[in-house]
Amino acid sequence: MDFSNENDTITQRVCAMNKRVDKIRQSDLYYYNQPISELRGGARVVVKGREMGMYASYSYLGLVGHPRINEAAQQAIAKYGTGTHGVRLLAGTLTIHTELEETIAEFKKTEAAITYTSGYATNLSVISTLLGRGDYVICDKLNHASIVDGCLMSGAKFLRFRHNDMQALEKRLQQLPVNATKLVIADSVFSMDGDIIDFPKLVELCQNYKAWLMIDEAHSLGVLGSTGRGIEEYFGLEGTIDINMGTLSKTIPSVGGYVAGRKELIEYLRHASRAYIFSAALPPAQAAAAKTSFDVILDEPWRIEKLNANTKQFISGLQERGFNTLHTETAIVPVICGSDESAYVMTREAQHRDTFVLPVVSPAVPPGLARLRATITAAHEPDEIERAMEVIELAGKVAGVI
Ligand SMILES: *Cc1c(COP(=O)(O)O)cnc(C)c1O
Repeated sequence: MDFSNENDTITQRVCAMNKRVDKIRQSDLYYYNQPISELRGGARVVVKGREMGMYASYSYLGLVGHPRINEAAQQAIAKYGTGTHGVRLLAGTLTIHTELEETIAEFKKTEAAITYTSGYATNLSVISTLLGRGDYVICDKLNHASIVDGCLMSGAKFLRFRHNDMQALEKRLQQLPVNATKLVIADSVFSMDGDIIDFPKLVELCQNYKAWLMIDEAHSLGVLGSTGRGIEEYFGLEGTIDINMGTLSKTIPSVGGYVAGRKELIEYLRHASRAYIFSAALPPAQAAAAKTSFDVILDEPWRIEKLNANTKQFISGLQERGFNTLHTETAIVPVICGSDESAYVMTREAQHRDTFVLPVVSPAVPPGLARLRATITAAHEPDEIERAMEVIELAGKVAGVI
């Protein structure tokens, strides 16, 4: 088969996307999929031999390349090798997996935890395992794609409410049968906007309407709360989330996802969730790196303080320069550009000046709200941040955004 039959829908999809990409490439506006040859501590990278300031990384605490974490990964390779050659339920569970899960449970102050090989697979598998036909799942409109996919796969009735609007959520809950099983899911920090969910009100509504509560902490683990434990610590509402989901690929410099919660829940998922039963276990080096990362977060609390200071400097500096950064309060800082074209031009201008930022365009965000999705980490220094903001300002002027 080739792509010559214009009536074939696979051909239509493939050609439409490739045409869009080609057009952007031809105008020197394509900066996705760039190979990075060196990661220099999270704040800088090398691309095509040039060192650039990194403002698109999720290594919020700057832990990538941390000597203790690298050492733990190397020791795990020496001890176990590189692969697990089995699924967790059968021959794939190593002592390092059990240690990692105990560490996560302790860090999140829950009874137990389970890990999967990606955050995406965690959401897909956990949501679709817990819910089925006849149940209801209620999501914030800006929830991550992996949550949306899990909800669709579950077969439950899928309802959404206006972003971070607790009145809209309450309306939804009021419409549902009192005795129906309901699961409310939200990101703690929204991955494209950087704002924080109205957690106290969310918890109150779930309690009042007897709904289960699941929170995706991909962008709050290590970021929110005085010791980085996440959104419950940030609001002083420990023990209120039923299903604590997170990833090991952002603040934690590894790969994988987890769910922490009551031991009955975790026991069930170990015997029912398909990503755990039918997909190979996390490689030992990644499990060991993840485990040690939680220890490092607790041992080096200055990283959270520095991230908070850098975040403040970055957000207020961009706002003072006239940029719209929506309602972000965290390390994810949307720099609104408007049209997709403006976002591409701003990216090009910034990248030409050794500042690594990337555009997010529709359909990932609504049309007209294309943006640079800039991120800041604890690895950046104040003078570097100042310089990056000067570049972004210049790029914004070239693109006509400010
Ligand atoms: C990145 C992300 C995920 C997926 O995690 P991976 O470990 O990268 O698969 C899930 N939820 C949210 C909110 C994310 O930002």
